[in-house]
Amino acid sequence: MTKDLMQELAPVPRIEPLAPSLTPRAELALLCRLLFAEGYDDHIAGHITLKQPDGTLLCNPWELAWDELRVRDIITLDANGKVIEGHWNVTPAINLHLEIHALRPDVQVVIHNHSRYGNIWANARRVPPVYDQTSAQVDGEIVLIDEYNATVNDRTEGANCARALGNAKWALLANHGVLIVARDVRQAHLRALTLEWRCRQAWMVEAIGGGHPMPEVIANRVGAMIDGAGFPFLWEAMVRRELRRYPIE
Ligand SMILES: [Zn+2]
Repeated sequence: MTKDLMQELAPVPRIEPLAPSLTPRAELALLCRLLFAEGYDDHIAGHITLKQPDGTLLCNPWELAWDELRVRDIITLDANGKVIEGHWNVTPAINLHLEIHALRPDVQVVIHNHSRYGNIWANARRVPPVYDQTSAQVDGEIVLIDEYNATVNDRTEGANCARALGNAKWALLANHGVLIVARDVRQAHLRALTLEWRCRQAWMVEAIGGGHPMPEVIANRVGAMIDGAGFPFLWEAMVRRELRRYPIE
C-alpha cells in the first residue's frame, strides 16, 4: 500500500494552473470555508490566525460564520491581539492563538474549533486510533490537553494550553474542542481535514463493534511522507469546488 501511495505522490508535470493565485486574506477565508464543509461548523465558534512576515496576524472575525467569509471580512491583529485593520471584532478567545504564535516560530497557522467528530473524542478524553489511509495522512502524537477550564478567554489558560501543546502538530482539548498548528495554509488544511476524518472513521468503527487499527509503523510512514511533502492537488481541488459555490471577493 505504501509503495503504491508513493507512486501516486511522485511529481508529475503541471500542465496548467490548478487554481487562481490567492492573496493571504483569500487563502484564510477559503481555509475557513473549506474546513466548515469538513465539520468545523459549530455555528460562529472557532478562529484561525495566519501570521504575516511583519508579525501581524490575519484572523476571521468574531461575528461571522466560517462558511460566509470573504476577503473583505478578514481582520488584521497586532501581536497583542488588537484589531488594526478591518470592520469586525476579534474573539476574546484569541489569547490562545497569541500564546502559541509567541512560543512556536515554526507555526504560521493556528486553528481552533469545536468540530463535529473531533469533539466526540475530546469529550471522551480519548485519542482516536488510525483505521485507514486518509486518517494516516498526518503522523505524530495527538496531545490530549485536560488542564483546560472550558474557555480560552484567560491569558493564563492560553499560555498553559500553548505549553501543553509543546512541539506537537495537534491536540484535543478535553470537553472543549480541537487545536491544530501548521507551517502554512496548505498544511493546515491537510492536518485539519485529516483529524476530523480520523475522528469520524474511528467513531464509526467503534459504532459497529470495533476494528483493527492500521499498524503503527505503516501509519507513521504514510503520515510522515504526506504531511511533510503535502498532498498534491488536494488544496487546489477543494479551492475550485468552494469558488464554484460562493464568491471570495
Ligand atoms: Zn473553543
